[in-house]
Amino acid sequence: MTLRKRAHLSTTQRFSLLQREKYRCHLCDGLIYVGQAWDVSHEIPLDLDGADDDANRRAAHRKCHRTHTAAVDMPAIARAKRIQAGHHGARVARFPMRGGRDDILKRRVDGTVVFRATGKLASLSPPARRTFRHG
Ligand SMILES: [Zn+2]
Repeated sequence: MTLRKRAHLSTTQRFSLLQREKYRCHLCDGLIYVGQAWDVSHEIPLDLDGADDDANRRAAHRKCHRTHTAAVDMPAIARAKRIQAGHHGARVARFPMRGGRDDILKRRVDGTVVFRATGKLASLSPPARRTFRHG
């Protein structure tokens, strides 16, 4: 058995939701007319730990729902995942900053460059490293 994130709603459940919402889209507050496509929307997205219950289920035009999901929900979910990954230390920089905390060298306030681990003075232009000059 697979765990389903959202429960299947019966026709009766969908119809009672629509009546409870007074046939209004919770995103644009417009009426949902007969024959118009509409979705069961989750006010707090399931991926942001919103509950799959009646308190979080709202009716929305299919167009409004898809636009809102793409423009608002997906970026928020992606951001939450990035923050969570960073919090747990799973996130690594693709291009670590020179002299940043992941670099083996660091530059002191007085301008000298030292090895981060040992604190020993490093030569100003080590052969393996590229140097960048401005001007
Ligand atoms: Zn709408």
